Amino acid sequence: MRIGIPRETAVGETRVAGTPETVKKLRALGLDVVVEREAGLASHFTDAAYRDAGAELVSASETLAADIVFKVHKPTFEQIRGMRRGATLICLLDMCYDDGTFDTLAAQGVDSFALEMMPRISRAQTMDVLSSQANIAGYRAVLEAARLYGRFFPLMMTSAGSAKPARVVVLGAGVAGLQAIATARRLGAQVWAYDVRPEVKEQVQSLGARFIELDVGESGAGHGGYAKPLSEEAQRKEQALLTEELKKADIIVSTALIPCRPAPVLITEDAIRGMHEGAVVVDMAAASGGNCPLTEPDRIVTRHGVILCGITNFPALMPSDASNFFARNVYNFLEFMLEPGAEGVRFKDFLADDVTSMTLITFQGTVRFETTKMAKK
Ligand code: NAD
Repeated sequence: MRIGIPRETAVGETRVAGTPETVKKLRALGLDVVVEREAGLASHFTDAAYRDAGAELVSASETLAADIVFKVHKPTFEQIRGMRRGATLICLLDMCYDDGTFDTLAAQGVDSFALEMMPRISRAQTMDVLSSQANIAGYRAVLEAARLYGRFFPLMMTSAGSAKPARVVVLGAGVAGLQAIATARRLGAQVWAYDVRPEVKEQVQSLGARFIELDVGESGAGHGGYAKPLSEEAQRKEQALLTEELKKADIIVSTALIPCRPAPVLITEDAIRGMHEGAVVVDMAAASGGNCPLTEPDRIVTRHGVILCGITNFPALMPSDASNFFARNVYNFLEFMLEPGAEGVRFKDFLADDVTSMTLITFQGTVRFETTKMAKK
């Protein structure tokens, strides 16, 4: 079997789905690996490092014609046309947005796995790119906040006077939010956090942050550990109660998301108006509409004296480790689906295990309804 690793072509993407480290491990499994020339350059992995690890450096089209293709983002229609019938694709497939990619993959006879559909269960943790990338994003978002903020995070006592510690509020305490809390604490800030799922209170407190308790009249806990949308009344209550808390913040890092839905609005214009000049909001939900209606995706703007950061791809700002983690997740996933065969390794039955059946989107020429019901047509 031959693995192909093309360079990512999406605007602003710096990651790569295979690194010299994982190429070496793939070779140890007896697989051939072809990598597009300069595929790892933006992540600081040189062609020489890939070659030393046992890969062959080739053109983009040769990587796409491999038996198994690793990518970060879904391929373009042109890239899909360059894939061969019976090939296997492993990448993020942008499951909330069906632009025809699934049908095109099926028509091309490509079996595809969407990494974002990985079940959030213990035995799949090593293959979970949403978690590994959200961890990086939460960390990087706090560094971005610190960069944009004109004051200190920690308490500083100097001969020129002292500075108070920053008051940071983290909204949404999932994977990114918990890492943001930990990072802000390490930088010496005082941290408050809120989530609509009451069960995260303990996790927030174990990181040394205070949990903001709001009585919105209902729980936002949904299926599989994810949040569910609140009723309109509960949303209004949540916004009103939060607004008073947020006006006191120096920094807000907001991460609140609901799978395949517009991000909930938690930071109203009124809250922004109430914040002090030079306060910072890093809205990590910018790609899904933002937790603040004033956020502009991929822009840093100042509104009512508050700096609003709408970066949508934080992992791309930390390309080496983001690629390291992503590539290890992909490697672990592939290793999981292989078993010894007569001539080296072969695929196990994809439908026999949740980890492969829940992530399998197109299979033997058809789009699997069970897995694509998450997609909005
Ligand atoms: P996510 O990115 O979907 O959402 C981020 C956070 O926003 C969530 O904590 C959510 O509750 C919160 N949120 C949504 N609406 C909100 C609102 N109106 N107000 C306040 N907060 C709101 O979440 P995620 O980081 O992908 O984590 C989802 C779940 O998966 C969590 O329960 C997490 O612990 C779990 N998880 C489990 C594993 C595992 O292997 N067991 C691995 C990773 C994550």
